[in-house]
Amino acid sequence: MKTISGISASPGVYIGKVFLYQEERLKVPKFKIGKDQIELEFSRLISASEKAKNELEAIKEAAKLMNVSENEIAMIDSHILMISDESFNGGIKTALSEKLLNVEWVFYEAIGVQIEKLNASQNLYMEERVSDLRDIAKRILNNLMFKERVKLTDLEKECIIVAHDLLPTDAIEMDKKNVKGIVLDVGGKTSHTAIIARAFEIPAVVGLFSITRSVKTGDDIIVDGTAGIVILDPDEETIKIYLEKIKRQEEIGLHLKSYVKKEAVTNDGKKITVAANIEVPQELESVKSHAADGIGLFRSEFLLLQSQLYNSEDQQFEVYKAILQDMGEKPVTIRTLDIGGDKIIPNYEEIRERNPLLGWRGIRFCLSSRTIFKKQLRALYRASIYGNLKIMVPMVSCIEEVDATLKMIEEIKLELMAKKQEFKDKIPVGIMIEVPSAVLAVEFLAKKVDFFSIGTNDLIQYTIAIDRGNEKIAYLYQMYHPALLRLIKMTIDAGKKAGIPVSLCGEMGGDPKAIIVLLGLGLEFFSMSPASIPLAKKVIRNVEVKEAEKIIDTIMQMGSGTEINSFVESWFNERFSGLI
Ligand code: PEP
Ligand code: MG
Repeated sequence: MKTISGISASPGVYIGKVFLYQEERLKVPKFKIGKDQIELEFSRLISASEKAKNELEAIKEAAKLMNVSENEIAMIDSHILMISDESFNGGIKTALSEKLLNVEWVFYEAIGVQIEKLNASQNLYMEERVSDLRDIAKRILNNLMFKERVKLTDLEKECIIVAHDLLPTDAIEMDKKNVKGIVLDVGGKTSHTAIIARAFEIPAVVGLFSITRSVKTGDDIIVDGTAGIVILDPDEETIKIYLEKIKRQEEIGLHLKSYVKKEAVTNDGKKITVAANIEVPQELESVKSHAADGIGLFRSEFLLLQSQLYNSEDQQFEVYKAILQDMGEKPVTIRTLDIGGDKIIPNYEEIRERNPLLGWRGIRFCLSSRTIFKKQLRALYRASIYGNLKIMVPMVSCIEEVDATLKMIEEIKLELMAKKQEFKDKIPVGIMIEVPSAVLAVEFLAKKVDFFSIGTNDLIQYTIAIDRGNEKIAYLYQMYHPALLRLIKMTIDAGKKAGIPVSLCGEMGGDPKAIIVLLGLGLEFFSMSPASIPLAKKVIRNVEVKEAEKIIDTIMQMGSGTEINSFVESWFNERFSGLI
């Protein structure tokens, strides 16, 4: 038995079997062929190359849609040319008949020779082509060997996924019925894979560094997402203790259920709004069963990540319309695409950035991908007549981005009018406050928009300058950093002064202890994962705003996040002892 500590990413406990999810390394087969097989082998290479060419053409089209630079498009073109090179293909045919070996091996050897030549050239440009060539060779070999990216959509039985990393798209697509736990080498508490695990109430522990090297498929494992630990090969005594824990958890769950329908009102009578965050429409059921006061954040980019770039305006319109109709009078805040950062488009991985979190993300991506952005805005405005829609823009760092967005909205309204398409004219348009520059210019932004929503996941990341998904520096990810508390306070105060609502939709808003701190800072509108709502309501109903304000008076005098954390923790444990 071995216990390993990591980062608690999604609460809950599960005892089960490991499913080790690994991208297999390519092992190229080598075997003899007969003379009569030469033509067949060669034709296999031609179809594999043709498929690779089509894949690259699709990437090129996607790149054009996203206004990628001419240089990058030209690079994809040169890859397509490499694949079609007649003399290279002719050389393979000759080698096939001389060596009488299978085409995978002959192709693999031929690429090896090319790479050696390029490496020997001592010309920087030529050396850089080596990685291009490797990439293309891998693509063609994948096609020759029918290797598809393994999907987690159809698992045969219940399991705990152990992987080095999971893309948010893997997590969205995985078979939720059978995935009972997630355990990763990398990641942080607010990485999007962790957020999705919480959304689907799957226990998860991340940031375990090298857990994938310690297990194999079928091993016994316990994932304790609440404590942030995993136990390999647990003994009987430990299993017994964990079965008790699971029972206790179920009892707590049942108890909290009684809070679902209760109003979120503090003990001294202040009404608090508690809305839900969702990533995909499938979560609507959970939003309703947890009686959320509307949707405070719909991460619309997951629609695009799921079906890649080719979501049409009509497809988006149908999804937005269905959500709005389903939610009736309740507000539905749909965030425009927050592509980038850790949310990469699977077929588009080739275009990588050196610093994705500081790069082409959120509103930056949308404003330079006008076709995609306008398509989304048109779909949103068309759907607006079916419910209570609010539009929210992510990653705003300056006022120019707000102006450009509002201008684009006016353009699409004119387009819709010209087409005689119905839409609501006055839809509240707000922005996420998740970049420190937005907070420091908040009074100017308040004059332009209808609401703010504080995205603490990113605000912490960009304030403390740490990648929110990097396990090596996860210890620095402090939600009570004095700088962060001040930034939140500035935003809430500026919203009140300007008379516009301020909500908070980062993960901090669903943390029971942080809820007290946020109430003390004057927050009245929370948005969180639906499963966090019952406990949040219980906390809100058992505290007075006056008490929370007193805590703020004390912690605002402290200079260290660790000190604030200990203070809040012991206050909470004492005040809520026996209650939670
Ligand atoms: C945030 O940054 O706090 C937020 C809610 O957005 P996301 O987690 O999708 O970046
Ligand atoms: Mg964010």
